[in-house]
Amino acid sequence: MSLPQKDIGPHYLEEKEEVLVEKINTRKKELNGQLLLLSHHYQQESVYRFADMTGDSLKLAKHAAGAKDRNYIVFCGVHFMAESADILTSEKQVVMLPDLRAGCPMADMATLDEVQWAWEELSNVIPIGSLIPVTYVNSSARIKAFVGKNHGSVCTSSNAERVLTWALDKGEKVFFFPDEHLGRNSASALGIKDEEVVLWDRGKPLGGNPPDKIKQAKILLWNGYCTVHMQFSADHVQMWRNKDPEIKIIVHPECRHEVVAGADIYGSTETIINTISSSPPGSHWAVGTEINLVNRLNNQHPDKEIHSLSPFQCLCSTMYRIKPGYLLWILDNLVEGKVENQITVDPETAEFARISLDRMLKI
Ligand code: SF4
Repeated sequence: MSLPQKDIGPHYLEEKEEVLVEKINTRKKELNGQLLLLSHHYQQESVYRFADMTGDSLKLAKHAAGAKDRNYIVFCGVHFMAESADILTSEKQVVMLPDLRAGCPMADMATLDEVQWAWEELSNVIPIGSLIPVTYVNSSARIKAFVGKNHGSVCTSSNAERVLTWALDKGEKVFFFPDEHLGRNSASALGIKDEEVVLWDRGKPLGGNPPDKIKQAKILLWNGYCTVHMQFSADHVQMWRNKDPEIKIIVHPECRHEVVAGADIYGSTETIINTISSSPPGSHWAVGTEINLVNRLNNQHPDKEIHSLSPFQCLCSTMYRIKPGYLLWILDNLVEGKVENQITVDPETAEFARISLDRMLKI
């Protein structure tokens, strides 16, 4: 969700970089013992360097939950990530997002109203008890809560295949939100036939499908997508194959199926980092994920050739909204005892969202 952001003024936004760095480091020292600064891997370097902990969204949220002595959690990521941190942390801990406009377009593609409407429509076509909802962790707290209430589970890009297997054991069909591509790539890896995977076109009656097609389906895929990973294409894969016979292609499963199918390896952000980090010196890589992470890997491994799979800058523009000026503004206020940009999930939503997250952890 992208929310309106307070104007913080030129004092923060036009400040010189070296001044911002010095002030942020000073504020961090002043808040020592109370503050936990988290940064997602896709965050730009000018913000990432201040993090106490870096990682993917769930790892960071779990870390915040474990750091019970830190009352102030500043999450340099996007809105759904801060929500997950709020769900998992204690009441005493306050979670903040430096710029409220940092939403996730993919998470916004599945609203609770749309999903409830689809669920109701489906209940007229199939026995609804046989349908298990699964949501990617990149979704709003309200969608996670809906899934928790309806006996489903959250999944991540590393365990989506395991969670789909669990869901298909439990019911006859799965409704997968919000990322079509993670759902399709996971279904394909499990050997589910193409004709058993149906796309739910949000906004169309029955998702644009005849009732018979839905009755025969095993997996219904909500047609959401990541605006970053959709920029990689099969042509980019071919371009690298033609250009460099030594190239290894590694991509995130939020990419289209033809990109994942053409790659040598696919996997979560952590898989991409670990695979490249442990590869031999001199390896050549083309990487299909967000550009800040690709550039960081390139800087960290000068002994390897690391390129973006796309010739264009595939940037998460909403995460890019988090800038050092906003971070300093949050910290300045905290030093004065004022909390800005707090992200809260109401208790009922949090309770059911926690159920869907706990279910995933048990699978
Ligand atoms: S990279 Fe994609 S899924 Fe991640 S926050 Fe940006 S738009 Fe959302």
